[in-house]
Amino acid sequence: MKELYEQLGISSQVYDFGSEIEEHLKERFQAFDKTAEYNQMKVLLAMQKNKVSEECFQSSSGYGYNDYGRDTLEKVYADTFHTEACLVRPQIACGTHALAIALFGNLRPGDELLAPAGKPYDTLEEVIGIRPSKGSLAEYGISYRQVDLLKNGTFDYDSIKKAINEKTRLVAIQRSKGYQTRPSFSVKQIGELIAFVKTIKPDVICMVDNCYGEFVDTIEPSDVGADMMVGSLIKNPGGGLAPIGGYIAGTKECVENASYRMTCPGLGMEVGASLGVNRSFYQGFFMAPMVTKSALKGAVFAANVYERLGFSVVPDSIEPRQDIIQAVTLGTAEGVIAFCKGIQAAAPVDSYVDPEPWDMPGYDSQVIMAAGAFVQGSSIELSADGPMKPPYAVYFQGGLTWEHAKLGVLKSLQKLLDAGLVTLP
Ligand SMILES: *Cc1c(COP(=O)(O)O)cnc(C)c1O
Repeated sequence: MKELYEQLGISSQVYDFGSEIEEHLKERFQAFDKTAEYNQMKVLLAMQKNKVSEECFQSSSGYGYNDYGRDTLEKVYADTFHTEACLVRPQIACGTHALAIALFGNLRPGDELLAPAGKPYDTLEEVIGIRPSKGSLAEYGISYRQVDLLKNGTFDYDSIKKAINEKTRLVAIQRSKGYQTRPSFSVKQIGELIAFVKTIKPDVICMVDNCYGEFVDTIEPSDVGADMMVGSLIKNPGGGLAPIGGYIAGTKECVENASYRMTCPGLGMEVGASLGVNRSFYQGFFMAPMVTKSALKGAVFAANVYERLGFSVVPDSIEPRQDIIQAVTLGTAEGVIAFCKGIQAAAPVDSYVDPEPWDMPGYDSQVIMAAGAFVQGSSIELSADGPMKPPYAVYFQGGLTWEHAKLGVLKSLQKLLDAGLVTLP
């Protein structure tokens, strides 16, 4: 084994250090195995209940009327997430698009959107119109209000109560911290927030951005009162196999409203050919609990490796996990670059290229990204990125297999070691 790792560029010193860390994570990994087992049964039950058959893998073209595989898959998603309905479509280009469809489909001019738990994901700023943008909700006369978290990272219930008014129509909660410094919310916490909002205004729609959160826990936001739950298929639920897509699961009314925005009023979910992706959507969803587990093991391994070496990591080495993202503050630009080079060098695709910081549109500093993915931009596959500014933190996520995630972490450490940026104990 060690020899093979050596051929992959991992020194004996790094290998031994990693092995020692891994040895201490057995119990933690067993807990991830149990969650994955539970979720695997949940998905299997939904597939069996809906009589998934070979016919489901057939393709449709043109309008996509009567696409049996597509319609059955949406029932499988809905049953797994315990919702009345679900849209799962390749026409949904990415997570931001899915969220935009959910918002535009369920809000009307004069309504107000409330973010009760702080700023939403960066890309939603233009959807909402927080940053002025063509075609934003703001341009359609939908106002926006935000309540920030308290300093200790919990919900500011007093201010939320004050912020809810006669115009408040939809409340948007983001489960994962994304690229912010706040903690990610547990499903239980989200349930408490939803219950609070509903006691003040029972008919308000509660939407949860579930990106990076699917199958991390045995329950999902839809189990604790969310009317709508939204995510990307090139993250957890696509299982690494879906080549594109997004989903919106929730009440029949919310999902239908979203469908009129996804296609158009009158047509809704009746159209939208699956163009041959059905099989990968099914197989990806089937694999998703196991793939999410692998990514979680990789994240916890990274947290433990880098915490041991004295770096600040979020979440820390022992905290419970709510999503698959791991932040490591390396403190220097060289550290961020070396880490990303290691992740890239461990990839199955494009392992021979060196990532470099670049001026990415929409960011106020240079950004470096490492990804050698089968699906472009897929962040359920092993990937890392970091903005080139203090505190010089890198965000690490994904790994279709735990073994690959492990190699990625070891390789990142090797690059830091080779650059003289760390010393091993
Ligand atoms: C990834 C992500 C999104 C959507 O991003 P896309 O790149 O458009 O798929 C939204 N919210 C969160 C929390 C995310 O992690």
